[in-house]
Order: sequence, then structure tokens, then C-alpha cells
Amino acid sequence: MEFSLSKEQEDIKRAAAEFARGEFKQELIEECELNHLFPRELYKKAGELGFIGLDYPEETGGGNLGVMENVLVIEEFCKTDSGLGMAIHLAFLPAKIIKIFGTAEQKQKFLAPLVRGDWVSAVSFTEPDHGSDLTRMDTTLVEEADGFVLNGTKIFTTNGAYADFFIVLAQEDPDARPGRGMTTIVVERDPSTWLGGDLEINEIPNKMGLRMTSSSELVFKGLKVAKENILGQRGRGLLNVLDFLDESRIEIGAQALGNCEGAFLKALKHATKRTQFQRPIIDFQGIGHKVARMWSRIQSLKWITYYGAWLCDHGREKEGDDIVALFTSIIKHHVPETAKCIIDDAITVFGGYGYFMEQEVERRYRDNRIVEMYEGTVEVQLNNIVRILKKLNIDYINANLL
Ligand SMILES: Cc1cc2nc3c(=O)[nH]c(=O)nc-3n(C[C@H](O)[C@H](O)[C@H](O)COP(=O)(O)OP(=O)(O)OC[C@H]3O[C@@H](n4cnc5c(N)ncnc54)[C@H](O)[C@@H]3O)c2cc1C
Repeated sequence: MEFSLSKEQEDIKRAAAEFARGEFKQELIEECELNHLFPRELYKKAGELGFIGLDYPEETGGGNLGVMENVLVIEEFCKTDSGLGMAIHLAFLPAKIIKIFGTAEQKQKFLAPLVRGDWVSAVSFTEPDHGSDLTRMDTTLVEEADGFVLNGTKIFTTNGAYADFFIVLAQEDPDARPGRGMTTIVVERDPSTWLGGDLEINEIPNKMGLRMTSSSELVFKGLKVAKENILGQRGRGLLNVLDFLDESRIEIGAQALGNCEGAFLKALKHATKRTQFQRPIIDFQGIGHKVARMWSRIQSLKWITYYGAWLCDHGREKEGDDIVALFTSIIKHHVPETAKCIIDDAITVFGGYGYFMEQEVERRYRDNRIVEMYEGTVEVQLNNIVRILKKLNIDYINANLL
């Protein structure tokens, strides 16, 4: 059993930490947070320095590495700042589905500009009437002689205002049974790529956190796109999405991991410096135990996240898809839920100061809350875990997983 990072992974983690410490400036954080702006220039810099697309193929400029290396970068970015870290990650994460299912041409066309930090990507799965339940889409996809026509409405698309392309899940066969008959297709933002129809993008304002991203409603009005934009096998759209989620949920977990690590560091510093009753507050057992418990929890979150990433990169063949999905769901519910408790404890350590933006723990709390929801809620992850546990033989669980 090997618990240490490779030299290359250590270098990536250190480089990401240095980049974040040097570039995530307070003025930028405030400007983007208060004005709800995506940090485009910073994103571009992250691309130029190789932090985007570490898991994409070399031909696209990517690093040909894995989920683990992305996790290390996201953890460090979010440790330094939840808002900037999550915004940068969410701009390139969606394109992972093209890395998995795209043709060589699609990878070149869509991933290469993304790796350079020039393009932003988005996924549009959720609809007003289909959130947790993606087994049927109301957005339709119809084949015509010269292209595919989309009609319908998507909601909560992250970075709708900034994305250069959207990966859309649509119902191609209206008579298919639940979970079937759906197809994924790439819609480009540039209207000159459309063969007809229109796409309306409406901003959904005033969200709790994640304010450096946009959240949008997308309305497809007979929008016709080229046939070569079909992504993966037709009719297999939901399965494509689920395969994507296996990897992406682990990286999303790394957002929460970094968020609570950053809150912990701030709280530890404050607890040792702040004195009340002539003593540093960490010497009061109520606070000292909180700090100790935060630390223990962080360690468990870190190792489960690293293990999930390792499973995705190296363990799938040996362990099988169910085990990867099992750990993906553990990470996706357990890390943000526990991170929420850790950040809440950090707010307690700060007392009244923790309630204000200046100490940034309140923002970490708000930013972290969404990690429990998007890409499948906590409840959906727990359903997955129960489903897989029911499917696995109890002797197998006993011998291999405990
Ligand atoms: C800020 C933000 C960004 C997002 N970004 C994107 C994006 O980029 N692309 C995209 O496609 N979507 C995105 N989403 C959508 C997100 O994935 C959904 O909101 C989420 O999956 C839940 O769907 P819903 O909101 O419709 O809630 P619902 O599905 O209506 O669920 C409501 C509640 O019921 C619970 N529930 C539902 N079904 C079950 C069940 N079977 N068992 C137990 N409990 C259940 C849920 O856990 C939840 O607590 C985003 C959402 C937000 C808020």
C-alpha cells in the first residue's frame, strides 16, 4: 500500500499552491464576488501555466494525466480561495465529457482552446421539471437532413453567460423507456455555427454563493446544429452523463476539501492569536477540541478523496464500475457535508468576526453549500450507495471493502 504522492504529483500540488497564493489577490476576489464576475484573465493565466486540462490528451495540449492531478490542483485553488477556485474549476470541468466521449476532431476543436484558457465550457442537463431525475428530458432533439434541431428549456447551467460551448442532454426518442433514448450534443455559443433557430440565455440572479460564476436558463427555439456536434453514441446520452459524473463528482468533492482546509487554516491561526480572559482561545477546551475535530475530519476527507481519484485513474479495471461509482458517491456526499460542519466550526472560532465577509469563512460556507447539490444531491448519492450495497454480495463486502 502506497500513501505518498509521486514526485510529479507533489510538484503539481506545490505549483498550484504557489500560483493561487500569488495570483488570487484580495482586490480580484472582492471585485468578482461583489460584482458577480467570472475571473477571465486569471482563468487564462491558469491555462497558460498548464493547470487546465491536466487529464486531457497531449494532442490537445493537455497533460495526459488523471483525476488525481486535477484533484490536487482544485484542492489547492479552493484552499486559497473558494470563490476563485470553484469558478476556475467549473469553467473547464464540463468539457471532461468530451475528453471521455469526443471524437479526435471534437477533442481538437473544443478541448485545445480550453486547455489554453481561451474557452469556457458548460453542461446543460437540468430542466425545470427534471433535476435529480434525469431519466427523461423535455428538451427534444430531432434529426433533419442537414443537422439536429433542439427545442426546450434548461435551467441552472453554470457559466451560461460565459461559456463558449454547452453540452446538452436531450430526448431523441420520445417513446423510449426511462433512461433511454437520450443523446448528448455540443451547442456552440457562436451563432455563425447555427444552421437555424435561436438560443436565448437568461441569467438567474441572486444566488447564495458561487458568485463568481453565472447561472443561466437556456431556451432552445428550434436551434439547429451540425451533425458532427453529436457527442458519443446516440440514444446513450444518460449513460454518457453518468460516466462523466463518476469522474467529475470526485473533482467536485475536491472543491469542498479545499474549502474546508482553507477555513481550518484561518481558524487555527485565529484560535492561537485571539486572546480572551488573558488566554489564547485555543486553550479553552471548547475551542481546542473544535480545532482538533476539524483536523481529524479533514484528514478523513482528504484520504477518501485521494482514494476515489486513484480508483478512477488506476483501479477501475480491477475493482469494476460499481466500486468506482460507490466511492464517487461517498465522496460527493460525505466530503461537502462534513466540510460544511468544519467551516461552521471555523465560523464559531471566529466569533462575531466570522459572520462578516472580511474573514471569508462565511463566504466559504455559502460557496460550499452548493457542492452538496450540484452534480447530484446528497440524497441522490445516498440512494446510489444503497443501490450498490444491495447489489454487492455481502461476503464480497466483508472480504474486500471492510
Ligand atoms: C448553483 C447551481 C449550479 C448548477 N449547475 C448546473 C449545471 O452546470 N448544469 C446542470 O445541468 N445542472 C446544474 N445545476 C442543477 C443541479 O444539478 C440540480 O439543482 C440538482 O441536481 C437537484 O435538482 P433540483 O434542483 O431540480 O431538485 P429536485 O430534484 O427537485 O430535488 C429537491 C429535493 O428532493 C430531493 N430528492 C429528489 N429525488 C429524490 C429521491 N429519489 N430520493 C431522495 N431525495 C430526493 C433532492 O435531494 C432535493 O433535496 C446547478 C444548480 C445550482 C443551484
